[in-house]
Amino acid sequence: MIQQTDLAFDRDHLWHPYTSMTSPLPVYGVERASGCQLQLSDGRWLIDGMSSWWAAIHGYNHPALNQALHAQTEKMAHVMFGGLTHEAAIRLGQKLIAITPAGLECCFLCDSGSIAVEVAMKMAIQYQLGHGRPQKARFLTVRNGYHGDTFGAMSVCDPVGGMHQHFATTLAQQFFAPPPRSRFGQCYDPTDCDELTVILAQHAEEIAAVIIEPVVQGAGGMRFYHPEYLKDLRCLCDQHQILLIFDEIATGFGRTGKLFAAEHAGVSPDIMCVGKALTGGYMTLAATLASRAVADGVSDTQYGPGVFMHGPTFMANPLACAVACTSLDLLANGGWQQQVQMIEATLQTGLAPARTITGVADVRCLGAIGVIELERPVDMARIQRRFVERGIWIRPFGKLVYCMPPFIINPDELERLITAMVATVAEECQQ
Ligand code: PLP
Repeated sequence: MIQQTDLAFDRDHLWHPYTSMTSPLPVYGVERASGCQLQLSDGRWLIDGMSSWWAAIHGYNHPALNQALHAQTEKMAHVMFGGLTHEAAIRLGQKLIAITPAGLECCFLCDSGSIAVEVAMKMAIQYQLGHGRPQKARFLTVRNGYHGDTFGAMSVCDPVGGMHQHFATTLAQQFFAPPPRSRFGQCYDPTDCDELTVILAQHAEEIAAVIIEPVVQGAGGMRFYHPEYLKDLRCLCDQHQILLIFDEIATGFGRTGKLFAAEHAGVSPDIMCVGKALTGGYMTLAATLASRAVADGVSDTQYGPGVFMHGPTFMANPLACAVACTSLDLLANGGWQQQVQMIEATLQTGLAPARTITGVADVRCLGAIGVIELERPVDMARIQRRFVERGIWIRPFGKLVYCMPPFIINPDELERLITAMVATVAEECQQ
């Protein structure tokens, strides 16, 4: 049980994400989690609206996922992937290749989302190298994107909302086009791609790949854009021998109503990153999938090194792979589509009243994601406390108050989550 002294230690010695060590925001001790709820140290249960940052799609303490982990522990927790392989990795590779967009045949299993993005970027550079095009080593992306916190990933995050100014002398300089303007569910404006088209044409000789979050721009603004944009992007990349990388780390495994957001557009990328919900939120694991053509280019021996230059210690960790296999089995067997449809419909009706709150700029929903965008940033400590007092767990950032609950949330929990979310936003807007 977490005591006050433990919280004091935490405050003085443990870094939390994006937090000051000298004046950290309060944190809440969690003792256990089950289904769609988290239990705090003081005994209160909170309805989880975050799925632990998009990951815990099947909820917490799931018997089948627990069992997969226990069974794998009995066999082996870990074994190096250099020169060795194991069943959990093989099964996971088979499953991922079967369910991801057509053409993605080669799978690199790595540690986290950010690393999956690094791997994708390195693959693109090595692919171009393998084709005798070493000068094609930069990236084009759109503003408002987020791809992770490591250096390669940071270089393709939004230059203003991201961390570029703090690491300016170290970050690789990439190309940025305006974000797609046409919203999901509205008419597509083909001029959305105009500026990007110009940059691609002018700098095709320097660009290895375009990297983008398909349909949903997550941490860079929670924007939902028109899938048609991705079709145009696919054509443009093909015209200029530029690879297309989809970052499905947040959107993958059903969150947007399709198993992968790429399916909204019917477009296959050359490289795709998945993570977060891959293990149902149990362990850190990600994967970068590539087409055979990309793998062949990377493996070229005439111009390139002939091998892919990446190999982390915990690559294809068996525990993580085993739990990921079971999570994918749950998705394959278990009605997630109806669950996500139910969540989307309830979010649409339940969040609608927030549109009338003075201080709310926009309300939008897609799949199991609901967003209330405010006109000004929230006071994080205050709003967090109020959410907890109302029995829900929501973690806003900036002007965005959003939820993406576990798919297994029941209608009653969802109603309570939404009601508390809207009431808290109304209160915050009056401050
Ligand atoms: N890409 C996207 C689209 C993300 O949303 C995130 C995390 O939020 C990442 C990459 C980075 O993943 P991780 O935090 O596992 O490194």
